Amino acid sequence: SAKSRHKGRHAVFDVAMHAKAVTRLQIETELRQALDNGEFEVHYQPIVLLRSGQTKGFEALIRWRHPLRGLLSPAEFLPIAEETGLIVPIGRWIVDECCRQLAAWYAAGAPSGLSVAVNISNRQFWGGNVIDDIAEALDRHRPPGGSLAVEITEGVVMENVAPARDILNMLHELGCQLHVDDFGTGYSSLEALHRLPIDALKIDRSFVWQINTDRRSGELVRTIVLMGRNLGLDLIAEGIETEQQRAHLLRLGCGYGQGFLFSKPVVADVAYTLLREDA
Ligand code: C2E
Ligand code: MG
Ligand code: MG
Ligand code: MG
Repeated sequence: SAKSRHKGRHAVFDVAMHAKAVTRLQIETELRQALDNGEFEVHYQPIVLLRSGQTKGFEALIRWRHPLRGLLSPAEFLPIAEETGLIVPIGRWIVDECCRQLAAWYAAGAPSGLSVAVNISNRQFWGGNVIDDIAEALDRHRPPGGSLAVEITEGVVMENVAPARDILNMLHELGCQLHVDDFGTGYSSLEALHRLPIDALKIDRSFVWQINTDRRSGELVRTIVLMGRNLGLDLIAEGIETEQQRAHLLRLGCGYGQGFLFSKPVVADVAYTLLREDA
């Protein structure tokens, strides 16, 4: 009957939902232990001067080396970390690890000006103790002033400009560089950008990947670059995979870039080797 068929379908749906909930719960439980078990790693992707390809710094990107599931990318666990609030202690660890690594690289003779950019999520920015966490990590490891950069997405900053400005001002006072991540995907007002203590805009990968083939993407990037330069900001293009994309971005006046053309994110030792190679 229609009724039993409906019931059957409902049961299948419940089983699938249940399985999903169990997996999620399992990841959540494992996520709680992962920090204590030392299962997180920071990988580093070079940010280069487009003109010469020389590395100016790295973006820190988290990975979870899961004992059974292998190396997990942020998309596989960060949303759960964000929902549960676990992102706050995890984020604190990342910031500490980046400051420790920066200090270690400088102690080993890294070129002056080397920076590491750390991503700060929505929940970390608004709900955590991001200022205290960063202040404590800087105090503990004492990397050179200005060597730590903080990446916050355009969406998070523009969601609530006045309070965001207070937080950004405090980060600026701590000596952090400030980069607006995934720029172009949200709605920034020029007025807001002008009043925030920002150092760089990161042009989102979605505009870069078809910059040579889609006229609109090219025009958008041109506009972002012009605006950024008028505001005195550095421009960093994300997701550069081809020489053609790099050449096009250079022609538009974009100074910096990041992408598989130069290097994938790599472990700290490999990152340092890359740095030595182009010194
Ligand atoms: P994002 O901050 O925009 O980082 C750039 C992402 O693009 C990275 O993915 C990077 O591996 C990838 N990518 C770089 N170059 C290329 C390229 O040429 N082609 C392609 N297809 N992709 C490229 P990943 O590492 O998977 O990170 C994804 C997102 O997860 C990041 O986007 C960031 O929003 C978040 N995330 C990563 N690490 C952290 C972290 O430590 N803390 C927080 N809060 N978020 C993080
Ligand atoms: Mg980023
Ligand atoms: Mg980005
Ligand atoms: Mg992005």
